[in-house]
Amino acid sequence: MSPIHATLPADAPRPALDAFAAAALAQLEAGGLRRRLTPFDSAQGPVLRAGARSFLNFASNDYLGLAGPPALRPAAAAAARDFGAGSGASRLVCGGLPPHRALEEAITAFQSLPAALAFSSGFAAALGTIPALAGPGDAVILDKLAHACLVDAARLSGAVLRVFRHNDPGHLDHHLRWARNRNLRNILVLTESVFSMDGDLAPLADIIETKERHGAWLLVDEAHATGVLGPARAGAASDPALRDRVDVHMGTLSKAVGASGGYVAGSRPLIDLLVNRARSFIFSTAPAPAAAAAAAAGIAMIASPEGAALHATLWNNIQALHSRLAAAGRAPAPPASAIFPVILGPEKAATDAAARLRDDGLWIPAIRYPTVPRGKARLRLTVTASHTPDQIDRAAAALAGLAP
Ligand SMILES: *Cc1c(COP(=O)(O)O)cnc(C)c1O
Repeated sequence: MSPIHATLPADAPRPALDAFAAAALAQLEAGGLRRRLTPFDSAQGPVLRAGARSFLNFASNDYLGLAGPPALRPAAAAAARDFGAGSGASRLVCGGLPPHRALEEAITAFQSLPAALAFSSGFAAALGTIPALAGPGDAVILDKLAHACLVDAARLSGAVLRVFRHNDPGHLDHHLRWARNRNLRNILVLTESVFSMDGDLAPLADIIETKERHGAWLLVDEAHATGVLGPARAGAASDPALRDRVDVHMGTLSKAVGASGGYVAGSRPLIDLLVNRARSFIFSTAPAPAAAAAAAAGIAMIASPEGAALHATLWNNIQALHSRLAAAGRAPAPPASAIFPVILGPEKAATDAAARLRDDGLWIPAIRYPTVPRGKARLRLTVTASHTPDQIDRAAAALAGLAP
């Protein structure tokens, strides 16, 4: 049994905290699962500097290349100048500032939805929203590969949980019937539109039809789709055929939007309820003015002709990386997003490959349990609008050179 889960008799001495931490870390180390921080010295971009070394970055979620470059800095700087460094309190107390309202207006317009609420992160958006909509006596039914924030929020809610097989509306239907037969009240279905570690798409139209048959609600997490997919680049669920049938649109302002924060968009009653019930909104200080203003500027950029051009460059780069990886036998399916998983299986195979790539000057981290299931360790490449054709060639060549 692991030191973390071992039990002790009542009269035995308890471990010192540092001894506990050291034992847990040793166990992670032995399993090839220990993680460490890398101290980078440069802003986000296709090249990262760490001390004297630099790396080609194929790991960032800054899909349109907005996080590091100057584009959004003036908006952040102006908000810091005009409204200060911090917001001082929760929005419900006295922390609501013009950048927060401007951001929510920008999200509402961008998503073509009646109302929106900004959170300090995407994680906080999930953690506040899901327990506000489902609790004891209700059911939350989520895709097997749903992000940790959806899983944690579902657990926190106290609702009965069911997991459906990845992208399997038939299995979702089975759980929906089960929940109704158990007389559970609210039934909330959770999925991502683009799955964060596999880059594949949820069959949203089928999931919507399925949940509608049972009167369930659907939350779609668009973290990796905002700015990448959909009409006006507003996410997969922004398709007019789907938009009004998705009850809760959730996303982050920290990936393609290039800033920091999270959002939920939907009906006015939904948003008013979240203002009253979402604990990560109520009991947390409002986002810093600079973060809110940068996010609003990021959304304006995505919606602009300049954003359309960045989006076209992103998709050219996605196609270019795919054709080069496919030629090397490393990309089975056509790309649905900017995320390319190269599944290697054993944890050690993935960490060894990542170390070799790092020696070659490429930053493509290994993704391991618990981020993905055990034995499904992988390299996860992401491509952005800022990569040059030459950088894409270098990444593909380095991957082709890995042992099969
Ligand atoms: C990154 C991510 C989040 C969290 O967003 P943050 O703003 O980074 O907290 C939520 N869901 C998914 C699928 C993500 O990949």
